[in-house]
Amino acid sequence: MMVNEAFPIIVQDAMKLNIALPPKAEAAFRAYYEFLELHGEKVNLTAISGAEEVARLHFLDSIALLKATNFKKKRVIDVGSGAGFPGVPLKIAEPSIELTLLEATGKKAVFLTELCDRLNIEAACLNERAEEAAHDSSKREVYDIAVSRAVARLNVLCELCLPFVGVGGIFIAMKSIGSDDEIEEAKRAIVALGAEIHKNCDYCIPGTDIVHRAVLIQKTTNTPDNYPRRFARIQKCPL
Ligand code: SAM
Repeated sequence: MMVNEAFPIIVQDAMKLNIALPPKAEAAFRAYYEFLELHGEKVNLTAISGAEEVARLHFLDSIALLKATNFKKKRVIDVGSGAGFPGVPLKIAEPSIELTLLEATGKKAVFLTELCDRLNIEAACLNERAEEAAHDSSKREVYDIAVSRAVARLNVLCELCLPFVGVGGIFIAMKSIGSDDEIEEAKRAIVALGAEIHKNCDYCIPGTDIVHRAVLIQKTTNTPDNYPRRFARIQKCPL
């Protein structure tokens, strides 16, 4: 499929997910794709390439989270954003989001800053590790929603992400539908971090037979101050 054909499909396929995109979204997704093509080697985006694959497996997969909960005017942090997924497509589809992109690798954080400039997207692009940033009072428990895709196994990911979420807010982990065991394994961590599993939202990426899962975890009480621990400790002794 040619680039010109790939981006109208985002608008049509988003409608299949009951998501109405704003008028400027099609052009923004096209510019995002072109930027990835030019500079994507900096962020090792080798597995998925070509306009149609990127449109479906990155852009549509990311915006499918809009089906899972209301993002309007919410403060959202994307932990381990890489080349911007899912945070940047969410902001394109729902511009009222107040977005923070958190990324540990310096060159990826630079890529995110340049991408947001290019797309004229207002977002805080932070080059920090989650387990350190979450102890900073300006970021701890101040977000309505944390999102994360392809960063770590759920028990580890919860310790990295839940400390950012305020009580009453949610953490959405993007997982496969084969994640039942991973969710079961993370239950102890979720309780220890002051949260509970709210629901799973399974969705099929339009135009494919790929079904993914958004795991919604609700923050019910404050996370104890000692979490997150240092990364070596989290990895060695996951909750
Ligand atoms: N979320 C993106 C996606 O779905 O395409 C990127 C996924 S990539 C496999 C994982 C990213 O998480 C990498 O860019 C890595 O640098 C970042 N990351 C891993 N551990 C992190 C941490 N503790 N704090 C912040 N970023 C982290």
